[in-house]
Amino acid sequence: MVEAGTARTLKDWISSSSRVAVITHTNPDGDAIGSSLALALALSRQGLDAQVIIPDGLPDFLRWLPGIERSTTFAYKKEKAVEIIEGADLIFCLDFNDPKRIGPVEEYLSKSGAHKVLIDHHQDPKQFTDIAISETWRGSVGEMIYLLLKEVFEQDVLNKEIATCLYVAIMTDTGNFSYASSYPEIFHVVGDLMKYDLDKDMIYSSVYDAFSEDRLRLQGYCMQEKMVILPQFHAAYISLTDEELMRFNHRKGDTEGFVNIPFAVKGIRLTALFVEKKDRIKVSFRSRGNFPANQIAADHYHGGGHINAAGGDSFDSMELTLSKFESLLPEYSKWLKDA
Ligand code: 5GP
Ligand code: MN
Repeated sequence: MVEAGTARTLKDWISSSSRVAVITHTNPDGDAIGSSLALALALSRQGLDAQVIIPDGLPDFLRWLPGIERSTTFAYKKEKAVEIIEGADLIFCLDFNDPKRIGPVEEYLSKSGAHKVLIDHHQDPKQFTDIAISETWRGSVGEMIYLLLKEVFEQDVLNKEIATCLYVAIMTDTGNFSYASSYPEIFHVVGDLMKYDLDKDMIYSSVYDAFSEDRLRLQGYCMQEKMVILPQFHAAYISLTDEELMRFNHRKGDTEGFVNIPFAVKGIRLTALFVEKKDRIKVSFRSRGNFPANQIAADHYHGGGHINAAGGDSFDSMELTLSKFESLLPEYSKWLKDA
């Protein structure tokens, strides 16, 4: 995966460093946390002090991951997080293409004099690190970390804990291998991970069967009351206001995956999820086929992402956000309407 020169530089930086910070993005998902913990665990097996920085909170479904004690949330433990970043001589940035994606942590990243390495799979990475390993065709950063660990370290640094984190990263960023995974190498990687006594079924269940009753009822409410289908555009959306979230005792991570619900309806090519936050409406898009979800996110929602999974923000009211979204669809009809 990595060019020989880059691998050599990375090896040099790793062997000359003692403290490493691994920074991942706001609103972290399974790939963000899984790949970051795997890298931190592997580096710590090599004798380095490696810590993970999460800008905001950790969703409950990832709290059980091995190595989670190596993570510090900037929003809750700012002093410790700043100390880790300021003390690091090597910083890895995982699973984001733009320093804006780490919110207030950006300031400390840019001030740091450490060697900086980006490892990411999003389109059009901004240049903010010394080395950037960007492979947009990969399903997850977890897969990239696996390949990197195999390439950079002479001996095998993987073990069951690291394999578990990597599998969570790969499994979640491919929707349990339902997208972004149609190439042979990903299954070679997973096949090798299985050799580390990986409990694949336990991992699935820990991630996907671990929600509260409230969350499942909120999901039911979304399907029954809130899902809007626009058959003429093969599109659908779901919106949730703060009041609705409170009614279902919402916890961080509860709306994760809701954006995929409408795909169960035959013919849907674009889905959107609008969730009210304190100061904005968080927008998520998912698409099938060649509809560029990242384009609609970038054009109208200050966001971006991948072709089939993207997101951004709206600063209008919910009502206006939804009516604007509906009125945008004709603009994209070349991808949505039947030929
Ligand atoms: P999600 O819908 O799960 O929050 O995000 C899906 C993908 O969209 C993320 O992996 C990320 O690539 C992208 N994304 C989500 N929100 C934003 C945003 O506000 N800005 C940018 N640039 N990308 C985003
Ligand atoms: Mn990812």
